[in-house]
Amino acid sequence: MPMIPYGRQSIDQDDIDAVVEVLKSDWLTQGPSIDRFERAMAERCGARHAVAICNATAGLHIACMALGLDHGDWLWTTPNTFVASANCGRYCGANVDFVDMDAKTWNMDAEKLAAKLVEAERLGRLPKAVVPVAFSGQSCDMARIKALSQQYGFAIIEDASHAVGASYLGKPVGCGDYADMTVFSFHPVKIITTGEGGIVVTNSDDLANRLRSARSHGITRNPDEMHEPSHGPWYYEMTQLGYNYRLTDIQAVLGLSQLKRLDAFLARRRALAARYDALLADLPLQLPTRQAGTESAWHLYVVRLQLERIGKPYEAVFEALRAAGVGVNMHYIPVHLQPYYRQFGYQAGDFPEAERYYREAITLPMYAGLTDEQQDKVVAALGTVLGDAV
Ligand SMILES: *Cc1c(COP(=O)(O)O)cnc(C)c1O
Repeated sequence: MPMIPYGRQSIDQDDIDAVVEVLKSDWLTQGPSIDRFERAMAERCGARHAVAICNATAGLHIACMALGLDHGDWLWTTPNTFVASANCGRYCGANVDFVDMDAKTWNMDAEKLAAKLVEAERLGRLPKAVVPVAFSGQSCDMARIKALSQQYGFAIIEDASHAVGASYLGKPVGCGDYADMTVFSFHPVKIITTGEGGIVVTNSDDLANRLRSARSHGITRNPDEMHEPSHGPWYYEMTQLGYNYRLTDIQAVLGLSQLKRLDAFLARRRALAARYDALLADLPLQLPTRQAGTESAWHLYVVRLQLERIGKPYEAVFEALRAAGVGVNMHYIPVHLQPYYRQFGYQAGDFPEAERYYREAITLPMYAGLTDEQQDKVVAALGTVLGDAV
């Protein structure tokens, strides 16, 4: 029986045609399609600038660089995320700490953030950057986090890898009302894809310049940014240590084509979420909550197993679903428990809410191409695996 995956891309003939066309053009990279894709994404978000990069991990890295994050600085994120949200701080030599998640939204708990800031101020260890993650496509309490950033003077890098097309308090995620920079991912399991790829959006001219520099070797061709007068038309200067984190035109045209389909993708994901909500209501599960004021992009549909009612261990449920052809997954193993982060002194018990969640959460299939029939199979398999226990 073929496995129904937890997520996958949706590629149609228009996407293929767009890529084939660019392959026949003069520009495979550093061409005009990058600009078009950046402008389209900026417009979609209602942001001034968008800087496309080769993946969201690179985007998080150059966002940290743009803030000047360095040795001795602190970056805080949530333990319930992909490791990249934390690693970006380490790439710059900064220390990484975590704020436990909220038991209902599974996002960074803004009140725990507030309490931790009080303590950090006392210790003289306030963070330079906080990375809230819009887990599963639903925004954090960004208004509260923004108010705290103004009170304590930290920058906000929003990891919106899950949240392309989501909205918060009536405006698109990435509009810049709450975050200094917002990073999106275009990995194939995310909402729209470029194969590998990502984009950073910001309303700051200064941050956008820094992002562009860091993306491309720290090289500038802008005379205003040069240290000496231009030597001639060939002249450029490298003013900081940057990287080659560029997206290709091949990827950008795929992104442009996918962006045209974004509203259809979101509508399908929202319909699937509503269907799961209805079909799973009577099972021993905690279903995802919808926060007032947020409209999720539904990258993930995660449920928590009520293990006492189910009477089976987590692994047994997980394995039985896989055996039934349902490609369930787990998002996320708490980042502070990864061996790399344990070396900094983190251990079990540090962030109990994220750790409790880790023992119960299971990701069900959710992607635009998932059919009602496939979703019914997922629900039936869950009913069988959980049902004989209740
Ligand atoms: C996917 C993901 C990333 C990394 O994105 P890439 O484009 O694969 O580098 C970062 N953070 C979160 C929360 C993600 O889900």
